Amino acid sequence: MAKDNSFGIGTLSIHGGQEPDPSTGAVMPPIYQTSTYAQEAPGKHKGYEYSRTHNPTRNALEKSLASLEKGNYGMAFGSGLAAIDAVMKLLKPGDEVIATNDLYGGSYRLFTSIFAKWGLVFHFIDLSNEEEVRAHINDNTRIIWAETPTNPLLKIFDIRKLAAIKDEFDLMLVVDNTFATPYLQTPLDLGADIVMHSVTKYLGGHSDLVMGALVVKDEDLAGQLYFIQNASGAICGPMDSFLALRGIKTLHVRMQRHCENAEAISRFLISHPAVKKVYWPGFPGHNGHEIANKQMRGFGGMLSFELKNDSIDKAFALVSSLKVFTLAESLGGVESLAGHPASMTHAAIPREERLKAGLSDSLIRLSVGLEDSKDLIRDLDAVLKTAME
Ligand SMILES: *Cc1c(COP(=O)(O)O)cnc(C)c1O
Repeated sequence: MAKDNSFGIGTLSIHGGQEPDPSTGAVMPPIYQTSTYAQEAPGKHKGYEYSRTHNPTRNALEKSLASLEKGNYGMAFGSGLAAIDAVMKLLKPGDEVIATNDLYGGSYRLFTSIFAKWGLVFHFIDLSNEEEVRAHINDNTRIIWAETPTNPLLKIFDIRKLAAIKDEFDLMLVVDNTFATPYLQTPLDLGADIVMHSVTKYLGGHSDLVMGALVVKDEDLAGQLYFIQNASGAICGPMDSFLALRGIKTLHVRMQRHCENAEAISRFLISHPAVKKVYWPGFPGHNGHEIANKQMRGFGGMLSFELKNDSIDKAFALVSSLKVFTLAESLGGVESLAGHPASMTHAAIPREERLKAGLSDSLIRLSVGLEDSKDLIRDLDAVLKTAME
């Protein structure tokens, strides 16, 4: 389908960047499971030489991602972290990055354990504090790295405000849009330079692949990132590209239901006597609710909550005895997942540090799936009764 910015997200999810296959008319881009391509004469080919550089299935996916995120160029990688790795390779020793202080753990590990060794300097700060952002900008600053909503407290940062700051100092703004997806938020429209995704989550949507992506508007920046994608080689395969395209076809329908179910569960939890606090961007009073209202088209499928007794043991028991929710890391799939950061994703962080970051002992994170909300609520209600005992 020709590029047309006036199409809605549903039309773009299904048709963005995808034409029926020219040789057969197949409506789905075929899985081009090939490493190389026959050339008519040395150097004379149909645009495809070697599949690290170009593969028709991956290219269809990359165009689809670009159209959804309102960009001009998309790049797909073997994981979300491989996509982040490619962005960091734009930089050179001495360059500095300002990132949110409650960054996705894997991004934090990549920055501090690998790229810091190579001479990049990272500052992890509260991006909602404009003074603090400005105080950390110097001549070596290159990138502001934002994630919104954040994990697991669903904090919201003002992308337009960060974009204004980066324009003032001629920096790049990268937004990890994994939690929101382009259904809820398109950071390039709000002034960001690069949108990053863990396609593993909502875009893939079916918990059956691991993949990452970048989308940009600028041709020169795209050229640099395509060069890194090919030179470092962290691409995704044709089969996974096909699965991601298949997942994306229903992105808009899934996201609508994720949002509805998460709202129903948030409203149930907030009125439950065993629950102290619910973190869901749709509640007035939530950290960043006003900004979410301005920059997002809904509040998403993720939420967290704390128990009134704040007991680590009760929270541990609660997530262990859910029946419809699966106890697992990750998010964004059709099935509902529950996690307990204190004993799972954030177990390696000392308790003092964890509490300082606002992650209490009993905090439970839910990735609300597409099951019937009454079944999800009944599941939670049953285990919350035992949490009060
Ligand atoms: C999962 C995740 C990543 C990393 O992506 P992978 O596909 O697991 O490599 C990055 N950012 C966020 C917000 C994520 O949830």
